[in-house]
Amino acid sequence: MNLAAILRKIKEDKRYKDARSVAIQLPEGMKRGIEEITKEFRDKEVIFIGDPFWGACDIPQGGKWDLLIQFGHSPIPHLGSFPNIIFEEIQEDMDFEIKPENIPFESLILTSNVTYSAQLPKIKKTLEESGIRVTLKRGDQRVLYPGQILGCNISAARGLEGNVLFVGEGIFHPLGIALALPEKRVLAFNPRTGEYIDMEQERRKFLSQRYSAIDRAARAKTFGIIVSTKIGQTRYSLAKVASNIVHEAGRSAFLITLDLLRDEELVNFPAEIYVNTACPRVTIEDYGTFSRPVISFYELQMALGLKDKSRYIFDEIVMTDEIGSSSFRKRN
Ligand code: SF4
Repeated sequence: MNLAAILRKIKEDKRYKDARSVAIQLPEGMKRGIEEITKEFRDKEVIFIGDPFWGACDIPQGGKWDLLIQFGHSPIPHLGSFPNIIFEEIQEDMDFEIKPENIPFESLILTSNVTYSAQLPKIKKTLEESGIRVTLKRGDQRVLYPGQILGCNISAARGLEGNVLFVGEGIFHPLGIALALPEKRVLAFNPRTGEYIDMEQERRKFLSQRYSAIDRAARAKTFGIIVSTKIGQTRYSLAKVASNIVHEAGRSAFLITLDLLRDEELVNFPAEIYVNTACPRVTIEDYGTFSRPVISFYELQMALGLKDKSRYIFDEIVMTDEIGSSSFRKRN
């Protein structure tokens, strides 16, 4: 990533030129590098958003700035267009080598996170030249690029092929694919370390943690159902269904809405179990940071005996809805 070139490109954008004030939203890993941004954007009134964010689902509302520049993520198509936001995705150049001999598949579906999505056509060509049949396809309206996977959406990995190759860092995205599509073999290639990881072991490890949370939920009496206020994470309708099925099972539930989903904000609510309808990443990656079990809507269904436990269902966001004043008005 060449930040200087990215910043110069942004300065050529008409939206930047027209703006007087600019808000900047950075992934945690980029916050230490704000000096370069401050220097380059010194012709504008700049404010940095302090809250952490993990995706384009998180668009700060109500700010007084003319333009928001969000670094690190691609827009989410089904959320609509945002004329006063520049989504600066930050894609990696291809300075790594993928070794077809390390990929034990005759055919596969090729996927990545946004960081490497621009490289997928080249990777496809390399693999095909060595005789591997490669499918690269666009997912649903939650993702922008062919092959792109989000922590909350693995639609680009669906298909008849029995294998999936994920290119990217960390195991969060390929774990989602392995959980959602257990019939497929999922291999993760990390371009930074050169490692190839078969996700089956990670899937089994994660499932044992999930089933222990489901068992605790099966015995619980009180459930706090969490709804996010973030525009691309709000699933109010799903939360209401969750609340209804808990009541129908003769237990108690209440809805909690919040922006940043952390234990500190929840700890005083008298829930034995939290049901997370916000970002599915929280249930997977942050699970250990909560003082009570956090489960997904589908895990709640399993806990209440409404879904067969033998087929684990991964929580994906396909569409979102609103928790805005109109929803409340309708109920009054
Ligand atoms: S909901 Fe979570 S996983 Fe999905 S885009 Fe937002 S931060 Fe990423």
